[in-house]
Amino acid sequence: MFNYSAPAQLLKDKTILVTGAGDGIGRAAAITYAQAGATVILLGKTVQKLESVYDEIEALGAPKAAILPLNLESATEQNYIEMTNIIDAEFGVLDGLLHNASILGMRTPLENYDLVTWEQVMRVNASAPFYMTQALLPLLHLSSCASIVFTSSSVGVKGKAYWGAYGVSKFAIQGMMEILADELENTSNVRSNCINPGATRTAMRAAAYPGEQPESNPTPEQIMPLYLYLMGEDSAAENGRTFNAQD
Ligand code: NDP
Repeated sequence: MFNYSAPAQLLKDKTILVTGAGDGIGRAAAITYAQAGATVILLGKTVQKLESVYDEIEALGAPKAAILPLNLESATEQNYIEMTNIIDAEFGVLDGLLHNASILGMRTPLENYDLVTWEQVMRVNASAPFYMTQALLPLLHLSSCASIVFTSSSVGVKGKAYWGAYGVSKFAIQGMMEILADELENTSNVRSNCINPGATRTAMRAAAYPGEQPESNPTPEQIMPLYLYLMGEDSAAENGRTFNAQD
């Protein structure tokens, strides 16, 4: 596991947006960031799941979260402008952005890959993080030390059979992070890096590997040290890198 021991209140006074905050790794990250003192903006598709995370954060006595329902498959430019305006009015700045939401699509050869599913996966996994980053950069530039964290995968580093649009979208995420990091290097206080979570016990992992024992993989809570490191100021000098949460 990535070796980092976060100081208490590492993220005090920071405002951090987490996509896909209602389930799996995003849920654990949202709660972990709140416990470290951040005000977390919970973005996701299923409002009920976001409300349950909101309640859990409240029960922990952590800073009150905010709920931002958005379906990344159908979201328009106008939705992203409105999202930015809401965050601007409420907080005036954004210190962290965790691009975590994604969908698996189908595990099938490219030769047979369904075109509608292709568009859905590319939109949620690759286009949405671009649209959102572009919309939120003005608020990230207002932070003294902002962090954008993308979520990659080992199938987005080396192409593997039957990973289809998901694999292609993760190559795109890796490229987007590197381009952005190069553009922001030395010109702003915004850094950009990738996390490869590695096999983690979530609904997505179970869907991708139905024959696997879920207990053979760590829980989302166990991989949080890297998620904390990249959001806190101890990683201020990191830019353009991909980190493995389980190394
Ligand atoms: P889950 O499927 O458990 O959770 C995905 C989250 O994304 C859910 O909260 C889901 O919301 C949200 N989401 C999906 N579609 C949309 C949408 N259209 N609009 C808004 N939110 C949406 O996945 P994991 O936690 O396993 O994965 C998290 C990240 O880690 C992903 O980027 C994944 O690719 C990556 N990853 C995961 C690995 C693993 O082993 N688990 C390995 C390598 C990478 P809802 O529940 O409401 O649909």
